[in-house]
Amino acid sequence: MTKEKLAAVAAIEKKADLIAGMADSIWEYAELSLQEEQSAALYCKTLESEGFTVEKGICGIPTAFSASYGAGRPIIGILAEYDALSGLSQKGGSLTREEAVPGGCGHGCGHNLLGAGAMAAAIGVKAYLEETKCPGTVVLYGCPGEEGGAAKAFMARENLWRGLDAALTWHPEDRNEVATGSSNSCIQVQYHFTGVASHAAGSPDRGRSALDAVELMNIGVQFLREHMSDKARIHYAITDAGGRSPNVVQPRATVLYMVRSNHVSEAVELQKRVDRIAEGAALMTDTTFERKFIDGLADTVTNHTLEKLLHENFSELGVPSHTAEEVAYTDALAKTYEGADTLPGIGCDYDTEYALHVKTLRSENGRAMNDFLLPLYQGEAFRPGSTDVGDVSWECPTAQIHVAAWPNGCPGHSWQNVSCDRTAVGHKAAIHAGKVLCAAAIDLLNSPETLEAAKAEFLERTAEGYTCPIPADAVPTVAD
Ligand SMILES: [Zn+2]
Ligand SMILES: [Zn+2]
Repeated sequence: MTKEKLAAVAAIEKKADLIAGMADSIWEYAELSLQEEQSAALYCKTLESEGFTVEKGICGIPTAFSASYGAGRPIIGILAEYDALSGLSQKGGSLTREEAVPGGCGHGCGHNLLGAGAMAAAIGVKAYLEETKCPGTVVLYGCPGEEGGAAKAFMARENLWRGLDAALTWHPEDRNEVATGSSNSCIQVQYHFTGVASHAAGSPDRGRSALDAVELMNIGVQFLREHMSDKARIHYAITDAGGRSPNVVQPRATVLYMVRSNHVSEAVELQKRVDRIAEGAALMTDTTFERKFIDGLADTVTNHTLEKLLHENFSELGVPSHTAEEVAYTDALAKTYEGADTLPGIGCDYDTEYALHVKTLRSENGRAMNDFLLPLYQGEAFRPGSTDVGDVSWECPTAQIHVAAWPNGCPGHSWQNVSCDRTAVGHKAAIHAGKVLCAAAIDLLNSPETLEAAKAEFLERTAEGYTCPIPADAVPTVAD
């Protein structure tokens, strides 16, 4: 590693308290998607005092921001998230389920660490640009509403990411690896049906049931499932069944639909078919409905060039090390859930040799924390979940890493995650992620050939063009 790169990594280490403090403050705020006012304000204030030029409310999203430093190209984007999840309030560092705030929210996806680690990377790259005076710009993007709202997709609608030479990010996980492969595109639409209330026994002929419309819509979609791609998924939740009295013809009912496909253009088409089923249900029941677009996000476009670069830097920097106390805590935490013996790494699902190798690494490791770096895997890989990082990856070369912040097999969106995310184990993951992303970004600033190769790969993989799942008139929102 060059002297300048080591100095940038050291600049991150010097700010370790600031980064850990940021992670803890965001954990305490635990704000839901698109309501991250305190979190965004703290980031903006901190980044301003760190010497970044901050723009608040970018792309018309109040809790989004950008913080940039430097001048000219290349422009490297680093993506930060900071939204929490409802119903997951939990005491930090605890080994049992104990709410910190009754009925409160919690950082069950580790976005308190995600944002702080992304900030760490930006701080490191800024130190490098300051020191070397080399051309180039680093921009930290504050991306709200990852769990609902898909801010990055709304930003993609404004072509925000097309201005970048590359985007890098990370996610806390139970393993250290460079992420690869694709994920599902996902579109959410809410259908609110309106009928006419009436006495269900006395004057049923005068009633029109919105609940019937929801039921018929669900049956229609059930039949649709036979005639769609086998990789597509359609989920629904009845968020308002109209009321609790069976003797009333329900005058209102709401259903929230989620359409997933491994290709965003297919998801958009499939979603239109669900719309037509809603029209059919309204016709059959003589009701009306309002359609409210909630959010949509694309599948992820992988970039092997950037993944290789991240893996080189990850290998050089190693993985976070853990004290005996941290090992004891995470070992004990791993006894509180099922699946603590699963093999980490997406490559294990696709490649038996890779899986055998990882099995050896796990047994040599001998603890719940995966304190080793997974070998680079670039074979076929697909995650059925969804992320709005996908929309960024359709507009510029994008790659991400995972850093172990949780013990092996720790379920996502769980109280165990929230517990870990407020400990030194979490802090170490955030700081380390910042270092790896920073080191890779510095390579990109210095290597036009790598950027060219990443761009050529990106153009080839996105040749068909990006179908933005966000309609022109949609505004960022979450479901009722
Ligand atoms: Zn999540
Ligand atoms: Zn997440």
